[in-house]
Amino acid sequence: MLHVGITGGIGSGKTTVCKIFEILGIPVYYADERAKWLMEHQASLVQGILGLLGQEAYTGEGKLNRSWISGKVFGNPELLSQLNALVHPAVAQDGFDWQDRQTDCPYTLKEAALLFESGSYLLLDKTIVVTAPLELRIKRVMDRDGVPRQAVQERIDRQMPEEDKVRKADYVIYNDGQRLLIPQVIAIHQGLVEAAKAMIS
Ligand code: ATP
Repeated sequence: MLHVGITGGIGSGKTTVCKIFEILGIPVYYADERAKWLMEHQASLVQGILGLLGQEAYTGEGKLNRSWISGKVFGNPELLSQLNALVHPAVAQDGFDWQDRQTDCPYTLKEAALLFESGSYLLLDKTIVVTAPLELRIKRVMDRDGVPRQAVQERIDRQMPEEDKVRKADYVIYNDGQRLLIPQVIAIHQGLVEAAKAMIS
């Protein structure tokens, strides 16, 4: 079975594209969502975060205190890398366990915003990047999250430039409001099914 990664900048349409792959029967692992879940539910990770950041990292109800953590690691790269050193291996292992449970599909998809930045693409067979013009991405996220332009722009500025991701990818999906998404997804799906067949023959 092939293991494929899918990424793209904020608001590029990664999740939207993954939903189309799911309709085609491809299982998708949403790494960022799963990371949030593990940070609240995996006992060893919770203990690690408490040890690193202290009790304030969680609310009284056991929810992750996101704004407090952001404030704490913002401008403290050492602490951020220590936090990442706890979270990334836990998510990577969870992703491998998930992959092992998938059967009867030619390939699996792993969706992650920081696929290239984290180096996790190195453990995957193929990568897909979803790309959209910057202005369209900003507008889509402002509409989706009800946040101001500045907030979206700041998040975009912290990510690898989308053109670098496009250069690194095996496949590119253009979600620019001009080209249709579904035919692009189907063409890549067919290519991946063929690649998976070639791998076992
Ligand atoms: P993030 O990195 O913030 O999680 P994302 O890359 O997963 O974002 P989506 O959530 O899939 O992006 O898309 C952003 C918003 O744009 C969503 O509200 C989605 O419904 C909308 N959107 C995505 N693609 C299209 C499209 N082709 N036409 C219209 N709306 C779209």
